[in-house]
Amino acid sequence: AIDVRGLHKSFGETEVLRSVDLTVYSGEVVVIMGPSGSGKTTLIRCMNLLDEPDAGSVTVHGRTLSYPARGSGRSRRRLIRDIRVRTAMVFQHLNLFPHMTVLQNVIEGPISVRRLPRPYAVEMGERLLAHVGLGDKRDEYPARLSGGQRQRVAIARALAMEPEVILLDEPTSALDPELGAEVLQTMRSLAACGMTMVVITHEIPFAREVADRVAFMDAGYILEEQRPSVFFGAPATARARSFLHLMT
Ligand code: ATP
Repeated sequence: AIDVRGLHKSFGETEVLRSVDLTVYSGEVVVIMGPSGSGKTTLIRCMNLLDEPDAGSVTVHGRTLSYPARGSGRSRRRLIRDIRVRTAMVFQHLNLFPHMTVLQNVIEGPISVRRLPRPYAVEMGERLLAHVGLGDKRDEYPARLSGGQRQRVAIARALAMEPEVILLDEPTSALDPELGAEVLQTMRSLAACGMTMVVITHEIPFAREVADRVAFMDAGYILEEQRPSVFFGAPATARARSFLHLMT
């Protein structure tokens, strides 16, 4: 479904990604773990082209964009737009438009970006809100929701784009454990429905239970990719062993 090859990304003098390869197949859940500053967020921002890599390629749904840039500006811009629409991001914070109701937040992208007819978008939005357990909140404003409810609206909004993959950047880390648990439950149910997901998270029980693979990053590299039973039981690298030791 999504494939990145040889990604490099620097910010000024700082090399944040140094040749990262990752393939995520349809229906898979890949959890990305690693110490702070290892490049996890930059990797998924590059998958969505929110950050553009300096070198390497991103393939989504069979369409490849390579860096450094080649080709005409117009077709490239169309390709970038296409990849962005197919890779929905859910951030740690600031996911919702505060001046819009929950339902308006969910249907805004489908109407303005995907050009879906409004009644169709509303029907889909209601269905997705019911799916994340917020059917009764459609007319509330985000300020009146709990953090966990807001994150679930953000997930519904990502799903409304019918993306190839959902990229989630520490979706529970700003929440207290109870509210985080609701969001984890929502992600579990998405995984059970076969949604392709890449999740940056420190939630080891979630990763153990839901991930097909754990990719462990350090200093701009993916040091290992393992099934969770292997990664949490007997990681291959000393770096991952010491990281997990600190986490538990
Ligand atoms: P964390 O777990 O703390 O979120 P991370 O593994 O997600 O860390 P990144 O957020 O990808 O790591 O950041 C990796 C490095 O890149 C950090 O040193 C960070 O300061 C730097 N960096 C990230 N974004 C930018 C930017 N826009 N401009 C300059 N430096 C940046």
